[in-house]
Amino acid sequence: MQSYNDPLHNLIYNTDASHFHNDEKTEVFLPKNRNEVIEIVETAVKENKKIVCRAWGTNLVGNCLPSKNTIVIDLSALNKILEQNASSITVEPWLTTDELNEILDKYDLYFPVQLWSHASAQIGGMIATNWAWMRAIKYWKMEKWVEEMEVITVSDQKEVKVQTLSWDDAKDFFWSEWTLGIILNAKLKLIKKPTASSLNFKSFDNLDNALMYVKSIRDKKNPELSALEIINPQVSKTVWLDEKYYVLVEYENDSDWDIKDLNEIKDIWIRRDACYAATVNAWYPQIEDPEIHENEEKFLKWLEEKHIPAYWHIGIGVLHPHFNEDQKELMDEMYKFVQELWWNVSWEHGIGKKKQKYLSDEEKNQIKSIKEKWDSNDVFGF
Ligand SMILES: Cc1cc2nc3c(=O)[nH]c(=O)nc-3n(C[C@H](O)[C@H](O)[C@H](O)COP(=O)(O)OP(=O)(O)OC[C@H]3O[C@@H](n4cnc5c(N)ncnc54)[C@H](O)[C@@H]3O)c2cc1C
Repeated sequence: MQSYNDPLHNLIYNTDASHFHNDEKTEVFLPKNRNEVIEIVETAVKENKKIVCRAWGTNLVGNCLPSKNTIVIDLSALNKILEQNASSITVEPWLTTDELNEILDKYDLYFPVQLWSHASAQIGGMIATNWAWMRAIKYWKMEKWVEEMEVITVSDQKEVKVQTLSWDDAKDFFWSEWTLGIILNAKLKLIKKPTASSLNFKSFDNLDNALMYVKSIRDKKNPELSALEIINPQVSKTVWLDEKYYVLVEYENDSDWDIKDLNEIKDIWIRRDACYAATVNAWYPQIEDPEIHENEEKFLKWLEEKHIPAYWHIGIGVLHPHFNEDQKELMDEMYKFVQELWWNVSWEHGIGKKKQKYLSDEEKNQIKSIKEKWDSNDVFGF
């Protein structure tokens, strides 16, 4: 089986979107099909090597980077559609949601866990990180859309097993960043393609007024609410808006809001999508993703006082503050805040190599016991 361990492959596979500096000597395998993946795992287990899988590398926490004595399996050749009907599709891991929805478009079907890194993140990586985004208020995370999957795991006796897991059996895996095995394929649920949407995009001079407006939207409890987002002034100026707070509200119908013109809607979403790249370009490359619950106002005021650029999926309480390289202490201060209030240090991006130091003992123990159950020999993971 062809593998690579030259300096260029080492450099590429020690890098992902996380800005985490990794420098481990590794061996990279590019299997052509599922049988070759199984063969590679069997050999690695015999040679007592660890394995980490690589999709597109868009994760932001260093969870596809090798550690010591770890081989990398690049799954880019596993890109086939295996089965499709009117309510589900079974795919190999290497497919983006853009590619998937292009295929489904012909049938008026749709896979709704969508956008942002939609053109690059692969289904395998999305399941492994339990991907979610702005429309999570309506469609939640990947875990809601996977019916079953075929995985490779390694038993306590170091036996390589290929098994199909139902959703119930697979649920441990969704928050695992796939340190438990390898996804060979997954059966995904589909919906009919939504045909309408309407939008409101309002600016506010201060946070209090923006939050009051958000509360009025939440109180309506409209089941067609598909996005509820805030952009703060430090970010809005980077996406060609006035330096104010902006609230974006979207319903999947065409009756509730004024903005119904598809081009206008597209233009607003382009600005919202651009928030990440524009804030990175403004020299704030580190994006974070704490989940915040009650007492959020105190925390948001703190962000405001420190002038931290941020935008957030306020509908589900997930915040994306950005930091620059000189603001490590400020970032630690933020996570201290998050820990003290028992909030979640990561809702979207995972823990990876980058965020282990922010986990509580309770969270560490929980991860340890899941790992013990599925991968007691510690074969998989970063
Ligand atoms: C601009 C930008 C926007 C983003 N937006 C969002 C967002 O809106 N929501 C969100 O949740 N995340 C977002 N992310 C983070 C990132 O896109 C996700 O974490 C994504 O799911 C990673 O997919 P990937 O294909 O790049 O996987 P990788 O980064 O290559 O790998 C991620 C993890 O999946 C594992 N893995 C990959 N394939 C398999 C497999 N077949 N079997 C087992 N394990 C596997 C890897 O080992 C690793 O642990 C964003 C990132 C960027 C750069």
